[in-house]
Amino acid sequence: MSLDLARIRAEFPILATEVNGRPLVYLDNAATTQKPRRVLDASRGYYESLNANIHRGTHHLARAATAAHEEARVTVARHLGATSPDEVIFTAGTTDGLNLVANILPVHEGDEILISTLEHHSNIVPWQLLCERTGAVLKVIPCDDAGVLDQEAFRQLLSERTRVLAIGWVSNAFGTVHPIVEMIAAARQVGAFTVIDAAQAAPHFAIDVAALGADFLAFSGHKTYAPTGIGVLWGRREWLESLPPWRGGGEMIKEVRFEGTTYNDPPFKYEAGTPNIEGAIALAAALEWIQEIGLEALHAHEDDLIRRAATQLSAIEGIRLFGPEDRCGALSFAIHGVHHYDLGTLIDQMGVAVRTGHHCCQPLMARFGITGTTRASFAAYNTEEEVDMLAESVLKAARMLR
Ligand code: PMP
Repeated sequence: MSLDLARIRAEFPILATEVNGRPLVYLDNAATTQKPRRVLDASRGYYESLNANIHRGTHHLARAATAAHEEARVTVARHLGATSPDEVIFTAGTTDGLNLVANILPVHEGDEILISTLEHHSNIVPWQLLCERTGAVLKVIPCDDAGVLDQEAFRQLLSERTRVLAIGWVSNAFGTVHPIVEMIAAARQVGAFTVIDAAQAAPHFAIDVAALGADFLAFSGHKTYAPTGIGVLWGRREWLESLPPWRGGGEMIKEVRFEGTTYNDPPFKYEAGTPNIEGAIALAAALEWIQEIGLEALHAHEDDLIRRAATQLSAIEGIRLFGPEDRCGALSFAIHGVHHYDLGTLIDQMGVAVRTGHHCCQPLMARFGITGTTRASFAAYNTEEEVDMLAESVLKAARMLR
């Protein structure tokens, strides 16, 4: 079940870019993926033939744009296994979705919010802000030296005080995949809300929210081959109906009077203001594109690449690979005596694009006593030859820098 890479690559115009006269090797996919023609066409097509503000419009374009926007919601719902499109809230991205949840959950003084050492800042700071507002307490699940969560410590941290478990499914820094189905089940047993940051899961494997058992799940379009500025927050219908709105404005209301306002039904209750209409339509195009590639084949391909990269890089003297052997999407490493920034800058000159630094995971870096790593991350269009170029360029750069 291998991918037709020549065909896939031909769909991404940006992959023809040259850097310093060399072909671009784009291995910064955990930061953002490139966009296939299908998605670019959907964005452009929207502005060329559909553009109008949606909902409440009586004219032809307003109706057509509304229909396309709501069809996009149906596509997302199907992609996630949601029971209804009403459970799909369009957001600006994962950060926006997580902030929304952190602002509507009923959390009180003394409640505990449980996150993990491997969280992205966007699944830390909204909860810290919530704790500051309410007097709730942030608790952190520790990890071992491989970047794997300590499940025993997790069970011990769970109690009737645990109000929320907010956890990333896949670590953007180390590629660790957490056993979230079991963790969600355990958290639900103590009556906690469960919130999943699926920013790094959505690009790599199928998500079935019905099977997961979580209450909320957020991801970003731009990491799943769609544009920036669009994302999804899936929420259980019962919560979207019973919890309060967050942002106020147009579209999220039923009736506004100066004496008081009544709110729209979900998902509109959580979508104040004019949404990113083109983004939603392009996101649906991206998810359809992923479905056509097939998430299983995609995952198998990326798994081959990441294992090849790990094998080749581990031959380099003084290298340390972070994360467990079963990584998903991202491979982080450090080379003794070489600063990650210098390494990233040098291999960029050889055409290889990776990310260096703390990857918005400063507490994780602190846990490992480092300031950052070099991270290569993979997508559908990457090839074995590109992995070889990564390893070659890292070896060359390390020799020059040491
Ligand atoms: N969570 C994780 C695990 C991520 O990798 C990212 C993006 N790097 C985010 C959250 C935030 O996503 P966004 O910047 O698209 O809101």
